Amino acid sequence: EHRPYAGTPTDPTTATEPLLPTVGQDLRVPVLGGGHVRYANFDWAATAPALQVAADAATTALTTYGSVHRGAGLPSQASTARYEAARAAVGAFSGARPGEDAVVFTRNTTDALNLLASAVPSGGEVLVLDVEHHANLLPWTARPHRCLEAPPTVEGTLAAVEAALRERPVALLAVTGASNVTGEVLPLRRLVRLAHAAGARVALDAAQLAPHRPLDLAGTGVDYVAFSGHKLYAPFGAGALVGRRDWLDAAPPFLLGGGAVRDVRADGTDWLPAPQRHEGGTPNLLGAVALAAACDALCVLPAGVLEAHEAALRTRLLDGLRTIAGVRTHRIWDDGRDAIGVVCFSVEGFAPGHVGAYLSAEHGIGVRDGRFCAHRLLTRLGLPGGALRASLGVGSTAADVDRLLFALRELVAGHA
Ligand code: PLP
Repeated sequence: EHRPYAGTPTDPTTATEPLLPTVGQDLRVPVLGGGHVRYANFDWAATAPALQVAADAATTALTTYGSVHRGAGLPSQASTARYEAARAAVGAFSGARPGEDAVVFTRNTTDALNLLASAVPSGGEVLVLDVEHHANLLPWTARPHRCLEAPPTVEGTLAAVEAALRERPVALLAVTGASNVTGEVLPLRRLVRLAHAAGARVALDAAQLAPHRPLDLAGTGVDYVAFSGHKLYAPFGAGALVGRRDWLDAAPPFLLGGGAVRDVRADGTDWLPAPQRHEGGTPNLLGAVALAAACDALCVLPAGVLEAHEAALRTRLLDGLRTIAGVRTHRIWDDGRDAIGVVCFSVEGFAPGHVGAYLSAEHGIGVRDGRFCAHRLLTRLGLPGGALRASLGVGSTAADVDRLLFALRELVAGHA
């Protein structure tokens, strides 16, 4: 099916098996020239296949199908209990501060950050960096905000954030946990210290970080975290915003409707506090329980196992890419040392769309090409026409990495 990559050797005993089983992990796809090959997924950062336990949790919830918080019958009671247990699991996964933080179920990270944008106290300025995914850029544009161009070093970026925080009061610093383009991770605790020293809160766009690293609101001091189930090995349609209750309790309800209210009268409405305040309408039980199951599964992985699996594969991929003429990898920060399993690259002489189509059609390999919903960053990186992204997940293996490297070698060698 493929020849192994013969480049820099890495420990063959690491990352040879998926860490956790996901649905569709034996998917076979047709390739040009005939036949089928096992799909090699390098697009976990866009949407990760659900863990088997998450799919099972959704199926179980379907078998006792009652409305959440809206029925006296047993199925409804079971659904309500499952939904609230899911909320507790998501809170535990986030390292939420008991009593201080609310867990609001949302549709995804975009929804969560839009909700937070509506909850920042009126007039308070939001500070962001230009390296962000659009989900952590655009929601802030409807309110007072500043967007800093991140300098090309981590140290320079921290200094620029500190200076901006000093210049005038900031209510919220909204930063990415890990770049969806390059996988790079900023020193979070240092950012939190800077923000808190200036009286600002910190919101973490953890869409990419959450599937790779433990979130720890209590330990890191981060005030809000947002993430998406579909990137966290759960199905589409459920995500979360977890963080300090006071802003969420005082904010206008994000979705107006049944379930969000205590009392509706002719002369006015009494809204419930968070989380119900922002969860108007019948909630997404299946999404919530599946997300919780995925959170639980990641929580019980022994500490460091996920990081080690990905680090081995990332190193293998980067080492291999470096040996292929015409392949360039891209990063935001010259001195950045920390990254999750996401690699951005381009192939000289080939449009990213061409490479993506070739990998899929000829080798059954799925990468992402384009501008990754981070247009400002791609322009800054000198990639206005886009690039390629290979991302890793719990099902990635060394054999997959070798297949990708082999296919790219063939492309640049002119065999494609
Ligand atoms: N933030 C980051 C860093 C992302 O990578 C993404 C999705 O790619 C999002 C936010 C938005 O996630 P969603 O589309 O699930 O709302």
